[in-house]
Amino acid sequence: MTDIRKNLRHVAGSLPPGVRLVAVSKYHPQESIMEAYEEGQRVFGESHEQELSKKAAALPGDIEWHFIGHLQTNKVRFIAPYISMIEAVDSMRLLKEINKQAARCGRVIKVLLELHIAEEETKYGLTLDECRKLLDDGEWRMLTHVQICGLMMMASYVDDQEQIRREMMVAADFFDELKSRYFADDSAFCERSWGMSHDYPIACECRSTMVRVGTSIFGERVY
Ligand SMILES: *Cc1c(COP(=O)(O)O)cnc(C)c1O
Repeated sequence: MTDIRKNLRHVAGSLPPGVRLVAVSKYHPQESIMEAYEEGQRVFGESHEQELSKKAAALPGDIEWHFIGHLQTNKVRFIAPYISMIEAVDSMRLLKEINKQAARCGRVIKVLLELHIAEEETKYGLTLDECRKLLDDGEWRMLTHVQICGLMMMASYVDDQEQIRREMMVAADFFDELKSRYFADDSAFCERSWGMSHDYPIACECRSTMVRVGTSIFGERVY
């Protein structure tokens, strides 16, 4: 058995029930994706539009593609026809563009709101207050071609497991707040996407429903 198949079995086998695996295949070749596919994996994550569109056109149609990176609004129309979930929505502008392009395709596209909780500097993600503001504003309720399915976040890239756990629990508690304030009657709001190669076991203890694992399955990326 190849390394990819072995790794996939190991990672998938270590997830508790209720946690789904998004195999992050960015920068890895189509043959690597096919190895994971043949092992039964169907959900893959990519973060660059052109790379994703090329792979999606060439690989089996029953793959569910998740867009996990920062998405520029001018790229939405290229992935709207086929994307299963856009995980990192961090502005009303992007949400509206996804809605518009989904409408053009006659689809409803599932999205997650990306939170910025980590102490690290990054340009992306909503602070808790920005996220509350976006939802309080209410305009999202008019967007009938997007379905907000939950939250996504990346914990700080640190060795301190307690810090990682703390950040993930902030996200988990915030999920509960949003659920009761805005989505109490919406069973589709149920996803908590956190956990990567170095911290997915912690994420599983912090109420993740979706881990995004690349390196531990496919090996180091060659950029
Ligand atoms: C690349 C990436 C991952 C996977 O990271 P690994 O450390 O390779 O598991 C997960 N989430 C996001 C948003 C990414 O960009």
